[in-house]
Amino acid sequence: MEELIIIAAVVVAAGGGTAAAVLLRRRGQAGPGAPETGGTAAGAEGAGGAAGTAVAEPAAGAAPAGPGIAAEATAPPAIEHPPPSAGRLVRLRSRLARSQSAFGGVLLGLLSRDRLDEATWEEIEDTLITADMGVSPARDLVAELRTQVKVAGTADPQEIKALLKADLLAQVGPDMDRTLHTRPHGNRPALVLVVGVNGTGKTTSVGKLARVLVGDGQTVLLGAADTFRAAAADQLQTWGQRVGAETVRSDRDGADPASVAFETVAKGIEQHVDTVIVDTAGRLHTKAGLMDELGKIKRVISRHGAVDEVLLVLDATTGQNGLRQAKVFAEVVDVTGIILTKLDGTAKGGIVIAVQHELGVPVKLVGLGEGPDDLAPFDPEAFVDAIVGD
Ligand code: GDP
Repeated sequence: MEELIIIAAVVVAAGGGTAAAVLLRRRGQAGPGAPETGGTAAGAEGAGGAAGTAVAEPAAGAAPAGPGIAAEATAPPAIEHPPPSAGRLVRLRSRLARSQSAFGGVLLGLLSRDRLDEATWEEIEDTLITADMGVSPARDLVAELRTQVKVAGTADPQEIKALLKADLLAQVGPDMDRTLHTRPHGNRPALVLVVGVNGTGKTTSVGKLARVLVGDGQTVLLGAADTFRAAAADQLQTWGQRVGAETVRSDRDGADPASVAFETVAKGIEQHVDTVIVDTAGRLHTKAGLMDELGKIKRVISRHGAVDEVLLVLDATTGQNGLRQAKVFAEVVDVTGIILTKLDGTAKGGIVIAVQHELGVPVKLVGLGEGPDDLAPFDPEAFVDAIVGD
């Protein structure tokens, strides 16, 4: 039995100007034995299959029987027009100043010593490792640089700087494919799934990514599949409203994330948006639980078409600990790109190299501040220029 409740609210703003908020809510019961609250869908699926769980996986092409999914369309007072994504890292390069002074500057200082003896090369390697670059990339870089400096037989600071930049760039991987696959496929939107541990800046990054895409002229629909935190859905909706992007969300906490994700994509297809971005829950519980949850979301939305991007959000300030968590995510879903947040808050910019080395996945976007447009497509050259200086 399913009950439909339609609430239409028209809000008339005092002092002229009207704002209409139409809230469509479908509050339903999932089926026999389905609880209204409690229990994670992934856990339920894992424990007992589709029958009797909170939300059954929807059949191909069918809407899932599940918790009410509400698509809220409110008319925000003014739609913002974010700047396009091109050149953002160049514009935001001063945000990497901490890494420049702690890492780029120190390296240049060491390399300009009169004598580059064994102890100095060790210091150079230590500096790279301290900047979270990772032991193996740091060793490779030092070996390469050492050979080049010897072959060039130069003590000229500008030449040494150019060599350092070239070697850092080689480690960052200028040829890695960092294309963000967000273009629609004919009438079907591109599907982007955003995963990562809570607190890394995941929801904020989804909001900022929506702005990047809107700034580049695309239409976006957001899905709040982090159903365990109502605040996350509210946060996402606020981000979306600012740029005219609708958010699909559940009307109750703890609803099945896969169901919300499915509905989001269905709505995205119906509305012919260019890109659907789904924010997921980032509870790092058990690996099996995570695999169940993200696996189910991905499986369910794949019924509408292949997922184009699975972006993993990683907090640059969390170092090795963050990398370990990221690895767990990379083991349970095929991550296609990294969003590295809070690079402005760390002196350890080497994490860009470490994360790519550890996960074998390119950094595609970097977060460089808390401002709405402080998310930039990652540009290796601009990054190295910012760290070492022009
Ligand atoms: P979630 O739990 O992973 O969804 O995290 P949130 O999106 O709520 O973000 C957590 C905090 O990190 C918020 O205060 C954000 O403003 C902040 N944050 C996110 N990205 C960045 C960034 O690139 N730089 C800085 N300085 N803060 C960020």
